[in-house]
Order: sequence, then structure tokens, then C-alpha cells
Amino acid sequence: MAQKRDYYEILGVSKTAADDEIKKAYRKLAIKYHPDKNPDDPSAEEKFKEAAEAYGVLSDAEKRKRYDQFGHAGMGGNGGFGGGQGFDINDIFSQFGDIFGDASPFGDIFGNGGGGGGRRVRRGTDLRIKLKLDLREVAEGAEKKIKVKRYVGCNTCGGNGSKNGASLKTCTTCNGNGQVRKVVSTMLGQMVSTSTCPTCNGEGKIVTERCEICAGEGRVLEEDVISIKIPGGVADGMQLSMSGKGNVPPRGGVAGDLLIVVEEEEDEQLKRDGNNLVYDLHLNFVDAALGTTAEVPTLDGKARVPIEAGVQGGKILRLKGKGIKELNGYGRGDQLIHVNIWTPKQLSAEERSILEKLKSSPNFQPKPGKNEKGFFEKMKDFFH
Ligand SMILES: [Zn+2]
Ligand SMILES: [Zn+2]
Repeated sequence: MAQKRDYYEILGVSKTAADDEIKKAYRKLAIKYHPDKNPDDPSAEEKFKEAAEAYGVLSDAEKRKRYDQFGHAGMGGNGGFGGGQGFDINDIFSQFGDIFGDASPFGDIFGNGGGGGGRRVRRGTDLRIKLKLDLREVAEGAEKKIKVKRYVGCNTCGGNGSKNGASLKTCTTCNGNGQVRKVVSTMLGQMVSTSTCPTCNGEGKIVTERCEICAGEGRVLEEDVISIKIPGGVADGMQLSMSGKGNVPPRGGVAGDLLIVVEEEEDEQLKRDGNNLVYDLHLNFVDAALGTTAEVPTLDGKARVPIEAGVQGGKILRLKGKGIKELNGYGRGDQLIHVNIWTPKQLSAEERSILEKLKSSPNFQPKPGKNEKGFFEKMKDFFH
């Protein structure tokens, strides 16, 4: 897949643009690149869709926040909108129709022919699920298959809810438009108002005999297995979205989104600190004095780490690049090994006598030098 362009760049607005500005920018692009206006330019449709996708994300406060924080990866495997499966131009208008008010010049460009804005395409509800990931999956990214119970279109009736898909007639109240127009006289002259047709509830069609499989709903509850690619570097509480994998609304329309909330399982040995991993190593004080090789768990098995003779408690060793992948980046964090010196809590008579002999040896007297930093210096180093 080609590198996706930045949404702000597509709309030609700054990262701090207000909602109004974003809306204006999108309208301008939508008029300019609408496929009906550019029949000879195949790239216009691509640009049109690109702008719609950018607007879909930036006009939604929650999605925009996620995008600002995590870029395209935060939008889920499919991108925030439509993604790979090629989406219908009409879906764009059903979703963003409200910004093209009836009074705008868009009525003429985007109307479905007869009489005004035409029927709005309904959108189904979003589904939200939690997905548990262990530390390795969080660090490297993972491909997961998840079971989801969701409403999908009924195959028997083709989603319209009528018996065999054919027991359907056009609503006579609205002539299939789904909307009724009323002319009202006001002080300012005659005004036309439109409202949802009460006979067909805006659907434009009336079911004369119901489909037996879905009882006229046009959709059935099904258990679906969905594959999702989780990028490395996600964090607890982060939300990924897959467009079109939510519920289909009754009797046809566009499916909602599947929202996947990441739940990070804690690892017993490796603690996460941003993209770094922290491991607490406990050395016995003899090994600390003599030097040793310590076995340390990492994301990809055990590492053998040389410990120099005379290592002090509190020292932090670094395994470069052994941490968590950067979301949207190429780098990764480190694994930090925090050295703790273990002091025995019980001593046998023999151990005691050996230690007693060593106690007054000159090398056993603490002589902290420049390299043995105190608590405050260590804290300062750690946070810089
Ligand atoms: Zn059916
Ligand atoms: Zn009607």
C-alpha cells in the first residue's frame, strides 16, 4: 500500500484548524473533485474519496484526537474510512449529508435527480469490543482473529425484509422518496420544508409480506470471525476502528464500525515504561563484588548479560533496541536492567564467621566516588 497522505495536508488546513475551517476546506474540495463534474478525469474520484476520508476523521472529535496522537496507524488496519473495499460515493453523502444543507449549491450537484436531497442512506450502529494483548503482542504487533456477533444483511431477502425479496411496493405517500415536502406560507413568502415520510418511515418502500428468515428486519445476527492487524506499540485503552465491520441497520444501509479497545495484559517480569521495558535484576552481593553473567528475560528469550565486578546497586544497564516498537515509527525502545544487590537476611554460624573476618578489611569500607551517584543524581539521570 502506498504511503497515505496526511489528512491535514489533503484538506490544506493547519493542525490547529477549527471545525468550521475543516468543513469549509472539505466542501471546496468536494465541489472541485466531484466525479459528476469531472467525468474525464479518473484521478478526480480518488481525490474526492481522499478528501472525504480526511474529513471523516478530522470532523469527528474523537477520531481526530486519535489521529493527532497516533497518525494513520491509530485509525485501524483499514484506515478510518472505507479503506480497501472501495466505497460508494453515495455513502459519503449519507454520512456527511448534513454539511451540505438543502440551501447549498450542493443540492443540485448531489441530488438524486427527482425532488431535492433524496433518501438518506442509514448507517448501522458501531460495535465495541475489548481485545486482550500480552506484552509480546503489544511490542511486535499481532494478527488476531476475533469472534464478533453482529447484524449482517439477510441473504434470503437481499436485506429488504420482504418475502423472497420481492414482496415490496413503492410508498405512495412519498412516491418512494422517503421524504414529504410541505409548502408553508410565512411572512417572508412561501417556504418549502421537507420531513421524513410518516407512512414508510423514510424508507420509500413498504413491505407487503415479510421475509420469514429475518422477520422483516432485513438483517440477521451472525457470529463473524474477523481478522485484524494490530500494529506494534499500541497501548492500553487505545481504540482501533475497522469501518464497515459493525452492525448493518434494519432493511439496508451502511454498516457501522467495529471499534476495538486494546487491553494490555501485565507481564510478570518485564514492566513497560513508554516504549522501554524495565527488568529488576537481583544480584547476590558476592556476584556483585566478583562480577558474573546474569540471565535476563527479554521479549525474544533469555539474554546473557555480563555484570562487571564491583557493580553498585541502583545501576541501570541498557539492552538497546530490545524494547517495544514505536507506533508509526521505525525505531523501538530499549530494555533497561535495574541492578539490585541482595543482602542475605539469614546467616549460618559459618557464613557469619567468614563475613566477620572480612568486615574490617579496607576494601569493604564504602568509598563512594564520583561514579557512585546519590539518589537525587540518579533520579535526574533517569528522567533526562
Ligand atoms: Zn430476510
Ligand atoms: Zn413514504
